[in-house]
Amino acid sequence: MTNDDSRSRVVIVGGGLAGLAAASVLAPRGFDVTLFESRPRLGGRASSIVDRETGRTIDNCQHVTMGCCTSFRHFCETTGCADLFETQQTLHFVEPPSDRAPRIVPFRSVALPAPAHLSLTLARMPWFSLREKSAIARGLRALSRDRQSETDDSAESFAEWLTRHRQPEAVQSRFWHTVLVSALSETLDRVSVRHARKVFVDGFLSNRHGWEVSIPTAPLGEIYDDRIARSLSESGVTLKTGTGVKRLLMEDGRAAAAELRDGLHLSADEFVLAVPHWLCGSLLPDELLASNFESRAQPGGRGSCRTASSNSDAQTGSAGASPSRAVSLRDAVGQIETAPIASAHLWFDRPLTELPHATLLDRTSQWFFNRGRESGQDGHYCQVVISAAGELSSRSEAAILDEVETELKSVWPNAGNAKRLHGRVITEHRAVFSPLPGVDQFRPDQQSPIDNLQLAGDWTQTDWPSTMEGAVRSGYLAAQNILARRGESFELPGELPRSLLFRTLFS
Ligand SMILES: Cc1cc2nc3c(=O)[nH]c(=O)nc-3n(C[C@H](O)[C@H](O)[C@H](O)COP(=O)(O)OP(=O)(O)OC[C@H]3O[C@@H](n4cnc5c(N)ncnc54)[C@H](O)[C@@H]3O)c2cc1C
Repeated sequence: MTNDDSRSRVVIVGGGLAGLAAASVLAPRGFDVTLFESRPRLGGRASSIVDRETGRTIDNCQHVTMGCCTSFRHFCETTGCADLFETQQTLHFVEPPSDRAPRIVPFRSVALPAPAHLSLTLARMPWFSLREKSAIARGLRALSRDRQSETDDSAESFAEWLTRHRQPEAVQSRFWHTVLVSALSETLDRVSVRHARKVFVDGFLSNRHGWEVSIPTAPLGEIYDDRIARSLSESGVTLKTGTGVKRLLMEDGRAAAAELRDGLHLSADEFVLAVPHWLCGSLLPDELLASNFESRAQPGGRGSCRTASSNSDAQTGSAGASPSRAVSLRDAVGQIETAPIASAHLWFDRPLTELPHATLLDRTSQWFFNRGRESGQDGHYCQVVISAAGELSSRSEAAILDEVETELKSVWPNAGNAKRLHGRVITEHRAVFSPLPGVDQFRPDQQSPIDNLQLAGDWTQTDWPSTMEGAVRSGYLAAQNILARRGESFELPGELPRSLLFRTLFS
Protein backbone atom coordinates (compact mmCIF):
# COMPACT_ATOMS: atom_id res chain seq x y z
CA MET A 1 0.00 0.00 0.00
CA THR A 2 1.37 3.43 -0.92
CA ASN A 3 1.78 5.99 1.79
CA ASP A 4 0.35 9.05 0.08
CA ASP A 5 -0.43 11.71 2.70
CA SER A 6 -2.70 13.67 0.38
CA ARG A 7 -5.29 10.88 0.31
CA SER A 8 -8.42 11.33 2.44
CA ARG A 9 -8.49 8.83 5.26
CA VAL A 10 -11.65 6.83 5.91
CA VAL A 11 -12.30 4.64 8.93
CA ILE A 12 -14.99 1.99 8.52
CA VAL A 13 -16.24 0.26 11.67
CA GLY A 14 -17.76 -3.15 10.91
CA GLY A 15 -16.70 -5.81 8.42
CA GLY A 16 -20.15 -7.07 7.45
CA LEU A 17 -21.40 -6.60 3.92
CA ALA A 18 -22.26 -2.93 4.52
CA GLY A 19 -18.73 -2.04 5.61
CA LEU A 20 -17.13 -4.19 2.90
CA ALA A 21 -19.32 -2.58 0.22
CA ALA A 22 -18.41 0.95 1.34
CA ALA A 23 -14.71 0.00 1.25
CA SER A 24 -15.07 -1.52 -2.23
CA VAL A 25 -16.28 1.82 -3.61
CA LEU A 26 -13.95 4.18 -1.76
CA ALA A 27 -10.54 2.46 -2.01
CA PRO A 28 -10.37 2.28 -5.82
CA ARG A 29 -11.33 5.99 -5.91
CA GLY A 30 -8.21 7.05 -4.05
CA PHE A 31 -9.30 6.98 -0.39
CA ASP A 32 -7.01 5.59 2.27
CA VAL A 33 -9.43 3.12 3.89
CA THR A 34 -8.96 1.29 7.20
CA LEU A 35 -11.69 -1.18 8.17
CA PHE A 36 -12.02 -2.43 11.74
CA GLU A 37 -13.87 -5.66 12.47
CA SER A 38 -14.14 -6.86 16.06
CA ARG A 39 -14.42 -10.55 15.15
CA PRO A 40 -11.51 -12.53 13.75
CA ARG A 41 -13.30 -12.82 10.38
CA LEU A 42 -15.17 -10.69 7.85
CA GLY A 43 -18.76 -11.19 6.71
CA GLY A 44 -20.72 -10.32 9.86
CA ARG A 45 -24.03 -12.13 9.87
CA ALA A 46 -23.12 -13.92 6.62
CA SER A 47 -20.13 -15.98 7.66
CA SER A 48 -18.74 -19.44 8.25
CA ILE A 49 -17.81 -21.02 11.57
CA VAL A 50 -15.92 -24.13 12.57
CA ASP A 51 -18.12 -26.85 14.08
CA ARG A 52 -16.25 -27.76 17.27
CA GLU A 53 -17.30 -31.41 17.33
CA THR A 54 -16.28 -32.28 13.79
CA GLY A 55 -13.81 -29.53 12.91
CA ARG A 56 -15.80 -28.84 9.75
CA THR A 57 -16.29 -25.34 8.40
CA ILE A 58 -19.99 -24.61 8.00
CA ASP A 59 -21.99 -21.46 7.27
CA ASN A 60 -23.88 -19.83 10.13
CA CYS A 61 -26.83 -20.29 7.78
CA GLN A 62 -27.42 -20.86 4.09
CA HIS A 63 -27.67 -17.46 2.40
CA VAL A 64 -29.34 -16.99 -0.97
CA THR A 65 -29.83 -13.96 -3.17
CA MET A 66 -32.29 -13.15 -5.96
CA GLY A 67 -32.12 -11.66 -9.44
CA CYS A 68 -33.66 -8.41 -8.19
CA CYS A 69 -30.68 -7.84 -5.84
CA THR A 70 -28.73 -5.73 -8.33
CA SER A 71 -26.39 -3.95 -5.88
CA PHE A 72 -25.34 -7.23 -4.33
CA ARG A 73 -24.61 -8.67 -7.77
CA HIS A 74 -22.60 -5.55 -8.67
CA PHE A 75 -20.63 -5.90 -5.42
CA CYS A 76 -19.83 -9.55 -6.19
CA GLU A 77 -18.76 -8.65 -9.73
CA THR A 78 -16.50 -5.78 -8.69
CA THR A 79 -14.88 -7.79 -5.88
CA GLY A 80 -14.38 -10.85 -8.08
CA CYS A 81 -16.63 -13.41 -6.40
CA ALA A 82 -19.62 -13.56 -8.76
CA ASP A 83 -18.40 -16.97 -9.97
CA LEU A 84 -19.03 -18.36 -6.47
CA PHE A 85 -22.82 -18.11 -6.93
CA GLU A 86 -24.98 -20.39 -9.07
CA THR A 87 -28.30 -19.15 -10.43
CA GLN A 88 -31.15 -21.65 -10.23
CA GLN A 89 -33.64 -21.78 -13.10
CA THR A 90 -35.94 -24.16 -11.22
CA LEU A 91 -37.16 -24.26 -7.62
CA HIS A 92 -38.86 -27.34 -6.19
CA PHE A 93 -41.98 -27.08 -4.03
CA VAL A 94 -42.90 -29.98 -1.79
CA GLU A 95 -46.64 -30.55 -1.34
CA PRO A 96 -48.05 -30.12 2.20
CA PRO A 97 -48.08 -33.32 4.32
CA SER A 98 -50.88 -35.83 3.73
CA ASP A 99 -51.17 -39.61 4.06
CA ARG A 100 -49.26 -40.26 0.82
CA ALA A 101 -45.77 -39.34 -0.32
CA PRO A 102 -45.87 -35.66 -1.28
CA ARG A 103 -45.57 -34.51 -4.87
CA ILE A 104 -42.63 -32.26 -5.68
CA VAL A 105 -43.59 -29.60 -8.18
CA PRO A 106 -41.03 -27.67 -10.23
CA PHE A 107 -41.35 -23.88 -10.19
CA ARG A 108 -39.90 -22.19 -13.26
CA SER A 109 -40.72 -19.39 -15.65
CA VAL A 110 -41.99 -19.68 -19.21
CA ALA A 111 -41.12 -17.45 -22.17
CA LEU A 112 -43.68 -14.76 -21.42
CA PRO A 113 -43.10 -11.22 -20.16
CA ALA A 114 -43.47 -10.52 -16.43
CA PRO A 115 -45.80 -10.95 -14.66
CA ALA A 116 -47.13 -13.69 -16.96
CA HIS A 117 -43.80 -15.61 -16.83
CA LEU A 118 -44.73 -17.46 -13.61
CA SER A 119 -48.47 -17.83 -14.21
CA LEU A 120 -48.29 -21.36 -15.64
CA THR A 121 -46.22 -22.69 -12.78
CA LEU A 122 -48.64 -21.19 -10.24
CA ALA A 123 -51.61 -22.54 -12.15
CA ARG A 124 -50.10 -26.04 -11.91
CA MET A 125 -49.68 -26.15 -8.15
CA PRO A 126 -51.91 -29.11 -7.33
CA TRP A 127 -52.56 -28.24 -3.69
CA PHE A 128 -54.55 -25.11 -4.57
CA SER A 129 -58.16 -25.35 -5.79
CA LEU A 130 -59.33 -23.24 -8.72
CA ARG A 131 -60.98 -20.86 -6.28
CA GLU A 132 -57.72 -20.51 -4.33
CA LYS A 133 -55.71 -19.89 -7.49
CA SER A 134 -58.05 -17.14 -8.55
CA ALA A 135 -57.77 -15.65 -5.03
CA ILE A 136 -53.97 -15.60 -5.44
CA ALA A 137 -54.26 -13.84 -8.81
CA ARG A 138 -56.68 -11.33 -7.30
CA GLY A 139 -54.39 -10.75 -4.31
CA LEU A 140 -51.31 -10.22 -6.49
CA ARG A 141 -53.19 -7.73 -8.66
CA ALA A 142 -54.43 -5.80 -5.62
CA LEU A 143 -50.98 -5.75 -4.04
CA SER A 144 -49.35 -4.46 -7.23
CA ARG A 145 -51.90 -1.66 -7.37
CA ASP A 146 -51.62 -0.80 -3.67
CA ARG A 147 -49.58 2.42 -3.85
CA GLN A 148 -50.92 3.71 -0.54
CA SER A 149 -48.49 1.53 1.41
CA GLU A 150 -45.67 3.64 -0.03
CA THR A 151 -46.93 6.78 1.71
CA ASP A 152 -48.48 5.35 4.85
CA ASP A 153 -47.24 2.00 5.97
CA SER A 154 -48.00 2.10 9.66
CA ALA A 155 -51.68 1.29 9.74
CA GLU A 156 -52.06 -2.34 8.86
CA SER A 157 -50.11 -5.60 8.99
CA PHE A 158 -49.94 -7.76 5.88
CA ALA A 159 -52.06 -10.40 7.66
CA GLU A 160 -54.80 -7.79 8.06
CA TRP A 161 -54.38 -6.71 4.44
CA LEU A 162 -54.81 -10.34 3.29
CA THR A 163 -57.97 -10.74 5.35
CA ARG A 164 -59.32 -7.46 3.94
CA HIS A 165 -58.63 -8.82 0.46
CA ARG A 166 -60.46 -12.07 1.23
CA GLN A 167 -57.49 -14.40 0.87
CA PRO A 168 -58.48 -17.94 2.02
CA GLU A 169 -56.56 -19.37 4.97
CA ALA A 170 -54.84 -22.08 2.89
CA VAL A 171 -53.65 -19.42 0.44
CA GLN A 172 -52.34 -17.28 3.28
CA SER A 173 -50.30 -20.10 4.80
CA ARG A 174 -49.20 -21.98 1.66
CA PHE A 175 -48.60 -19.08 -0.68
CA TRP A 176 -48.13 -15.68 0.99
CA HIS A 177 -46.50 -17.03 4.15
CA THR A 178 -44.23 -19.46 2.26
CA VAL A 179 -42.72 -16.68 0.15
CA LEU A 180 -42.57 -13.99 2.81
CA VAL A 181 -41.21 -16.04 5.69
CA SER A 182 -38.18 -16.94 3.55
CA ALA A 183 -37.68 -13.40 2.28
CA LEU A 184 -38.41 -11.45 5.48
CA SER A 185 -38.14 -14.03 8.27
CA GLU A 186 -41.33 -12.91 9.94
CA THR A 187 -44.89 -14.11 10.30
CA LEU A 188 -47.57 -12.32 8.26
CA ASP A 189 -48.91 -10.42 11.28
CA ARG A 190 -45.43 -8.86 11.72
CA VAL A 191 -44.85 -7.82 8.12
CA SER A 192 -45.73 -4.43 6.69
CA VAL A 193 -47.67 -4.13 3.44
CA ARG A 194 -44.82 -2.10 1.94
CA HIS A 195 -42.20 -4.78 2.56
CA ALA A 196 -44.53 -7.57 1.38
CA ARG A 197 -45.27 -5.58 -1.76
CA LYS A 198 -41.59 -5.04 -2.45
CA VAL A 199 -40.88 -8.77 -2.26
CA PHE A 200 -43.66 -9.66 -4.69
CA VAL A 201 -43.33 -6.74 -7.10
CA ASP A 202 -39.52 -6.69 -7.36
CA GLY A 203 -39.04 -10.41 -6.96
CA PHE A 204 -41.87 -12.00 -8.88
CA LEU A 205 -44.05 -9.62 -10.86
CA SER A 206 -42.14 -6.84 -12.58
CA ASN A 207 -39.17 -8.51 -14.30
CA ARG A 208 -38.64 -12.03 -15.65
CA HIS A 209 -35.36 -12.47 -13.76
CA GLY A 210 -36.28 -10.95 -10.39
CA TRP A 211 -37.24 -14.29 -8.80
CA GLU A 212 -34.15 -16.26 -9.87
CA VAL A 213 -32.43 -17.55 -6.75
CA SER A 214 -28.62 -17.67 -6.61
CA ILE A 215 -26.92 -19.99 -4.17
CA PRO A 216 -23.28 -19.78 -3.08
CA THR A 217 -21.17 -22.70 -4.29
CA ALA A 218 -18.52 -22.05 -1.62
CA PRO A 219 -18.70 -21.46 2.14
CA LEU A 220 -19.56 -17.85 3.02
CA GLY A 221 -16.17 -17.51 4.70
CA GLU A 222 -14.43 -18.32 1.43
CA ILE A 223 -16.44 -15.59 -0.30
CA TYR A 224 -16.30 -12.72 2.20
CA ASP A 225 -13.37 -13.49 4.48
CA ASP A 226 -11.13 -14.81 1.75
CA ARG A 227 -11.93 -13.76 -1.82
CA ILE A 228 -13.38 -10.32 -1.05
CA ALA A 229 -10.78 -9.64 1.63
CA ARG A 230 -8.08 -10.33 -0.96
CA SER A 231 -9.74 -8.06 -3.52
CA LEU A 232 -10.07 -5.22 -0.99
CA SER A 233 -6.48 -5.61 0.19
CA GLU A 234 -5.31 -5.44 -3.42
CA SER A 235 -7.19 -2.17 -3.85
CA GLY A 236 -5.40 -0.76 -0.81
CA VAL A 237 -7.85 -1.30 2.06
CA THR A 238 -6.19 -1.96 5.42
CA LEU A 239 -8.25 -4.73 7.04
CA LYS A 240 -7.97 -4.98 10.82
CA THR A 241 -9.89 -8.03 11.95
CA GLY A 242 -10.08 -8.93 15.63
CA THR A 243 -9.92 -5.21 16.37
CA GLY A 244 -12.98 -3.77 18.05
CA VAL A 245 -13.73 -0.06 18.12
CA LYS A 246 -14.80 1.19 21.55
CA ARG A 247 -16.32 4.50 20.42
CA LEU A 248 -16.05 7.37 18.00
CA LEU A 249 -14.49 10.54 19.37
CA MET A 250 -15.84 13.97 18.38
CA GLU A 251 -14.08 17.31 18.16
CA ASP A 252 -15.69 20.64 17.21
CA GLY A 253 -18.88 18.91 16.12
CA ARG A 254 -17.09 16.49 13.80
CA ALA A 255 -15.98 12.89 14.10
CA ALA A 256 -12.26 13.00 14.80
CA ALA A 257 -11.01 9.52 15.68
CA ALA A 258 -11.92 5.93 16.39
CA GLU A 259 -10.90 4.80 19.85
CA LEU A 260 -10.01 1.12 19.73
CA ARG A 261 -10.75 -1.31 22.55
CA ASP A 262 -7.03 -1.50 23.26
CA GLY A 263 -6.97 2.28 23.83
CA LEU A 264 -5.29 3.34 20.58
CA HIS A 265 -6.82 6.20 18.59
CA LEU A 266 -6.96 6.40 14.81
CA SER A 267 -7.90 9.77 13.32
CA ALA A 268 -9.49 10.10 9.89
CA ASP A 269 -11.33 12.55 7.63
CA GLU A 270 -14.42 10.41 7.14
CA PHE A 271 -16.10 7.69 9.21
CA VAL A 272 -18.57 4.97 8.32
CA LEU A 273 -20.24 3.22 11.25
CA ALA A 274 -21.44 -0.10 9.81
CA VAL A 275 -22.46 -2.04 12.92
CA PRO A 276 -25.90 -3.52 13.75
CA HIS A 277 -28.42 -1.02 15.12
CA TRP A 278 -28.37 -2.45 18.64
CA LEU A 279 -24.65 -1.66 18.92
CA CYS A 280 -24.79 1.95 17.72
CA GLY A 281 -25.62 3.31 21.13
CA SER A 282 -22.33 2.32 22.71
CA LEU A 283 -20.22 3.75 19.88
CA LEU A 284 -21.87 7.10 19.19
CA PRO A 285 -21.69 10.24 21.32
CA ASP A 286 -24.69 11.07 23.50
CA GLU A 287 -25.40 14.34 21.74
CA LEU A 288 -25.87 12.53 18.43
CA LEU A 289 -28.03 9.80 19.96
CA ALA A 290 -30.22 12.42 21.60
CA SER A 291 -30.55 14.58 18.48
CA ASN A 292 -34.04 14.68 17.09
CA PHE A 293 -34.90 13.14 13.78
CA GLU A 294 -38.00 13.84 11.79
CA SER A 295 -39.45 10.51 10.86
CA ARG A 296 -41.65 10.38 7.86
CA ALA A 297 -42.74 8.06 5.08
CA GLN A 298 -42.50 9.66 1.68
CA PRO A 299 -44.23 8.94 -1.60
CA GLY A 300 -42.16 6.76 -3.88
CA GLY A 301 -41.39 4.18 -1.27
CA ARG A 302 -38.76 6.16 0.61
CA GLY A 303 -39.60 6.09 4.26
CA SER A 304 -36.93 8.10 5.97
CA CYS A 305 -35.66 9.24 9.29
CA ARG A 306 -33.82 12.50 8.82
CA THR A 307 -32.53 15.13 11.11
CA ALA A 308 -33.97 18.61 10.99
CA SER A 309 -30.43 19.90 10.59
CA SER A 310 -29.44 17.41 7.90
CA ASN A 311 -28.13 19.08 4.75
CA SER A 312 -29.10 16.21 2.47
CA ASP A 313 -31.33 17.67 -0.26
CA ALA A 314 -32.37 14.24 -1.40
CA GLN A 315 -34.37 13.82 1.77
CA THR A 316 -36.34 17.03 1.65
CA GLY A 317 -40.01 16.30 2.34
CA SER A 318 -42.33 16.68 -0.61
CA ALA A 319 -45.98 17.43 -1.02
CA GLY A 320 -48.10 14.51 0.04
CA ALA A 321 -45.62 13.13 2.57
CA SER A 322 -47.26 11.77 5.68
CA PRO A 323 -46.91 13.93 8.79
CA SER A 324 -43.49 13.81 10.39
CA ARG A 325 -42.77 13.46 14.08
CA ALA A 326 -39.65 14.01 16.08
CA VAL A 327 -37.79 11.01 17.42
CA SER A 328 -34.24 10.74 18.69
CA LEU A 329 -31.76 8.40 17.02
CA ARG A 330 -31.57 6.46 20.30
CA ASP A 331 -35.35 6.01 20.34
CA ALA A 332 -35.46 5.22 16.63
CA VAL A 333 -32.98 2.34 16.85
CA GLY A 334 -34.74 1.17 20.01
CA GLN A 335 -37.94 0.76 17.97
CA ILE A 336 -36.37 -1.61 15.46
CA GLU A 337 -37.17 -5.19 16.50
CA THR A 338 -35.34 -8.30 15.36
CA ALA A 339 -36.29 -11.84 14.31
CA PRO A 340 -34.40 -15.13 14.70
CA ILE A 341 -33.42 -17.60 11.96
CA ALA A 342 -32.39 -21.18 12.76
CA SER A 343 -30.54 -23.62 10.56
CA ALA A 344 -30.36 -27.36 11.11
CA HIS A 345 -27.15 -28.94 9.81
CA LEU A 346 -27.32 -32.69 9.24
CA TRP A 347 -24.92 -35.27 7.91
CA PHE A 348 -26.25 -38.63 6.67
CA ASP A 349 -24.41 -41.74 5.55
CA ARG A 350 -26.04 -41.49 2.10
CA PRO A 351 -27.84 -38.84 0.05
CA LEU A 352 -31.52 -38.22 0.84
CA THR A 353 -32.19 -36.95 -2.68
CA GLU A 354 -30.40 -35.71 -5.77
CA LEU A 355 -32.39 -32.45 -5.75
CA PRO A 356 -30.14 -29.46 -4.98
CA HIS A 357 -32.78 -27.73 -2.86
CA ALA A 358 -36.49 -27.76 -2.06
CA THR A 359 -39.12 -25.55 -0.44
CA LEU A 360 -41.31 -27.45 2.01
CA LEU A 361 -44.89 -26.37 2.68
CA ASP A 362 -46.70 -26.54 6.03
CA ARG A 363 -43.78 -28.02 7.91
CA THR A 364 -41.26 -26.82 10.49
CA SER A 365 -38.52 -27.29 7.86
CA GLN A 366 -38.87 -24.51 5.28
CA TRP A 367 -35.93 -24.67 2.85
CA PHE A 368 -33.81 -27.74 2.28
CA PHE A 369 -30.35 -27.33 0.75
CA ASN A 370 -28.45 -30.37 -0.41
CA ARG A 371 -24.74 -29.70 -0.01
CA GLY A 372 -23.77 -33.20 -1.17
CA ARG A 373 -20.71 -35.16 -0.24
CA GLU A 374 -17.97 -32.99 1.15
CA SER A 375 -14.55 -33.66 -0.24
CA GLY A 376 -12.33 -35.43 2.22
CA GLN A 377 -15.19 -35.85 4.72
CA ASP A 378 -17.57 -38.63 5.60
CA GLY A 379 -21.23 -38.11 5.05
CA HIS A 380 -23.67 -36.20 2.91
CA TYR A 381 -24.32 -32.76 4.27
CA CYS A 382 -27.62 -30.93 4.10
CA GLN A 383 -28.97 -27.84 5.70
CA VAL A 384 -32.53 -26.87 6.57
CA VAL A 385 -33.43 -23.24 7.15
CA ILE A 386 -36.21 -22.26 9.56
CA SER A 387 -37.00 -18.54 9.43
CA ALA A 388 -39.09 -16.65 11.99
CA ALA A 389 -37.81 -19.30 14.37
CA GLY A 390 -39.14 -17.83 17.64
CA GLU A 391 -41.30 -20.88 18.31
CA LEU A 392 -38.26 -23.15 18.40
CA SER A 393 -36.74 -21.37 21.38
CA SER A 394 -38.48 -23.65 23.90
CA ARG A 395 -37.35 -26.85 22.16
CA SER A 396 -34.13 -28.79 22.56
CA GLU A 397 -31.63 -29.14 19.75
CA ALA A 398 -32.22 -32.91 19.69
CA ALA A 399 -36.00 -32.46 19.31
CA ILE A 400 -35.55 -30.01 16.43
CA LEU A 401 -33.10 -32.30 14.65
CA ASP A 402 -35.44 -35.30 15.10
CA GLU A 403 -38.39 -33.39 13.67
CA VAL A 404 -36.40 -32.11 10.69
CA GLU A 405 -35.08 -35.61 9.96
CA THR A 406 -38.59 -37.10 10.15
CA GLU A 407 -39.91 -34.44 7.80
CA LEU A 408 -37.13 -34.96 5.26
CA LYS A 409 -37.59 -38.72 5.32
CA SER A 410 -41.33 -38.34 4.77
CA VAL A 411 -40.60 -36.27 1.66
CA TRP A 412 -38.05 -38.78 0.34
CA PRO A 413 -39.28 -42.14 1.70
CA ASN A 414 -36.49 -44.00 -0.11
CA ALA A 415 -34.09 -42.24 2.23
CA GLY A 416 -35.78 -43.90 5.21
CA ASN A 417 -32.75 -46.04 5.97
CA ALA A 418 -30.28 -43.18 5.84
CA LYS A 419 -28.45 -42.86 9.14
CA ARG A 420 -27.77 -39.48 10.66
CA LEU A 421 -24.08 -39.22 11.49
CA HIS A 422 -24.10 -35.82 13.08
CA GLY A 423 -26.34 -32.79 13.46
CA ARG A 424 -26.48 -29.39 15.05
CA VAL A 425 -28.75 -26.39 15.12
CA ILE A 426 -27.48 -22.83 14.88
CA THR A 427 -29.87 -20.07 15.86
CA GLU A 428 -29.05 -16.45 15.08
CA HIS A 429 -31.34 -14.70 17.53
CA ARG A 430 -31.00 -11.27 15.94
CA ALA A 431 -30.71 -12.42 12.35
CA VAL A 432 -32.70 -9.66 10.66
CA PHE A 433 -34.76 -6.64 11.63
CA SER A 434 -38.50 -7.26 11.69
CA PRO A 435 -40.27 -5.47 8.82
CA LEU A 436 -43.13 -4.39 11.08
CA PRO A 437 -45.68 -1.85 9.86
CA GLY A 438 -44.12 1.60 10.22
CA VAL A 439 -40.54 0.35 10.74
CA ASP A 440 -39.16 2.44 7.88
CA GLN A 441 -39.87 5.58 9.91
CA PHE A 442 -37.17 4.50 12.33
CA ARG A 443 -34.45 3.75 9.79
CA PRO A 444 -32.07 6.71 9.53
CA ASP A 445 -30.42 7.83 6.33
CA GLN A 446 -26.75 7.04 5.91
CA GLN A 447 -25.80 10.71 6.20
CA SER A 448 -25.81 11.40 9.94
CA PRO A 449 -26.23 14.93 11.31
CA ILE A 450 -22.44 14.98 11.62
CA ASP A 451 -21.04 15.84 8.19
CA ASN A 452 -18.18 13.38 8.17
CA LEU A 453 -20.04 10.46 9.77
CA GLN A 454 -22.08 7.96 7.77
CA LEU A 455 -24.25 5.21 9.22
CA ALA A 456 -24.48 1.96 7.27
CA GLY A 457 -25.98 -1.48 7.74
CA ASP A 458 -29.05 -3.32 6.48
CA TRP A 459 -31.14 -1.50 9.11
CA THR A 460 -30.45 2.00 7.74
CA GLN A 461 -32.76 3.50 5.15
CA THR A 462 -32.36 1.61 1.89
CA ASP A 463 -35.94 0.84 0.89
CA TRP A 464 -34.95 -2.84 1.23
CA PRO A 465 -35.63 -5.39 3.93
CA SER A 466 -32.84 -6.89 6.04
CA THR A 467 -30.85 -8.65 3.34
CA MET A 468 -27.40 -8.80 1.82
CA GLU A 469 -28.78 -6.47 -0.87
CA GLY A 470 -29.92 -3.97 1.78
CA ALA A 471 -26.54 -4.13 3.52
CA VAL A 472 -24.58 -3.58 0.30
CA ARG A 473 -26.89 -0.72 -0.76
CA SER A 474 -26.37 0.99 2.60
CA GLY A 475 -22.58 0.76 2.18
CA TYR A 476 -22.86 2.08 -1.36
CA LEU A 477 -25.08 4.98 -0.22
CA ALA A 478 -22.62 5.87 2.55
CA ALA A 479 -19.75 5.87 0.03
CA GLN A 480 -21.86 7.90 -2.38
CA ASN A 481 -22.39 10.59 0.28
CA ILE A 482 -18.65 10.76 1.02
CA LEU A 483 -17.85 11.09 -2.68
CA ALA A 484 -20.60 13.68 -3.23
CA ARG A 485 -19.14 15.92 -0.56
CA ARG A 486 -15.95 15.95 -2.64
CA GLY A 487 -17.77 16.68 -5.86
CA GLU A 488 -17.41 13.13 -7.13
CA SER A 489 -20.18 10.77 -8.05
CA PHE A 490 -20.96 7.10 -7.76
CA GLU A 491 -24.13 5.76 -9.23
CA LEU A 492 -25.83 2.84 -7.56
CA PRO A 493 -26.74 -0.02 -9.91
CA GLY A 494 -30.27 0.45 -11.21
CA GLU A 495 -33.11 -1.86 -10.31
CA LEU A 496 -34.24 -4.43 -12.86
CA PRO A 497 -36.46 -2.70 -15.45
CA ARG A 498 -40.19 -3.27 -15.13
CA SER A 499 -41.70 -5.03 -18.12
CA LEU A 500 -44.04 -3.17 -20.45
CA LEU A 501 -46.80 -5.63 -19.56
CA PHE A 502 -46.36 -4.98 -15.83
CA ARG A 503 -46.38 -1.21 -16.37
CA THR A 504 -49.45 -1.42 -18.59
CA LEU A 505 -51.33 -3.55 -16.09
CA PHE A 506 -50.38 -1.83 -12.85
CA SER A 507 -49.17 1.75 -13.42
C1 LIG B 1 -29.20 -16.78 9.86
C2 LIG B 1 -29.28 -15.72 8.82
C3 LIG B 1 -29.75 -16.02 7.55
C4 LIG B 1 -29.83 -15.01 6.59
N1 LIG B 1 -30.22 -15.33 5.32
C5 LIG B 1 -30.15 -14.38 4.35
C6 LIG B 1 -30.37 -14.72 2.99
O1 LIG B 1 -30.60 -15.89 2.63
N2 LIG B 1 -30.31 -13.73 2.07
C7 LIG B 1 -30.02 -12.44 2.40
O2 LIG B 1 -29.96 -11.57 1.50
N3 LIG B 1 -29.81 -12.08 3.70
C8 LIG B 1 -29.85 -13.02 4.66
N4 LIG B 1 -29.59 -12.69 5.96
C9 LIG B 1 -29.39 -11.26 6.31
C10 LIG B 1 -27.98 -10.80 5.99
O3 LIG B 1 -27.03 -11.70 6.49
C11 LIG B 1 -27.76 -9.44 6.66
O4 LIG B 1 -28.78 -8.55 6.25
C12 LIG B 1 -26.43 -8.80 6.28
O5 LIG B 1 -25.38 -9.73 6.34
C13 LIG B 1 -26.17 -7.64 7.25
O6 LIG B 1 -24.92 -7.04 6.95
P1 LIG B 1 -24.48 -5.74 7.75
O7 LIG B 1 -23.14 -5.37 7.24
O8 LIG B 1 -25.56 -4.72 7.68
O9 LIG B 1 -24.40 -6.16 9.29
P2 LIG B 1 -23.51 -7.28 10.01
O10 LIG B 1 -23.37 -8.45 9.12
O11 LIG B 1 -24.12 -7.49 11.34
O12 LIG B 1 -22.07 -6.62 10.16
C14 LIG B 1 -21.73 -5.75 11.21
C15 LIG B 1 -20.31 -6.06 11.61
O13 LIG B 1 -19.87 -5.10 12.57
C16 LIG B 1 -19.01 -5.76 13.48
N5 LIG B 1 -18.91 -4.95 14.69
C17 LIG B 1 -19.86 -4.76 15.63
N6 LIG B 1 -19.39 -3.95 16.60
C18 LIG B 1 -18.12 -3.62 16.26
C19 LIG B 1 -17.12 -2.80 16.87
N7 LIG B 1 -17.36 -2.17 18.03
N8 LIG B 1 -15.93 -2.68 16.25
C20 LIG B 1 -15.68 -3.32 15.08
N9 LIG B 1 -16.60 -4.12 14.47
C21 LIG B 1 -17.80 -4.25 15.04
C22 LIG B 1 -19.71 -7.10 13.69
O14 LIG B 1 -18.84 -8.07 14.23
C23 LIG B 1 -20.16 -7.42 12.26
O15 LIG B 1 -19.19 -8.18 11.56
C24 LIG B 1 -29.50 -13.67 6.93
C25 LIG B 1 -29.02 -13.39 8.20
C26 LIG B 1 -28.88 -14.39 9.13
C27 LIG B 1 -28.30 -14.06 10.46
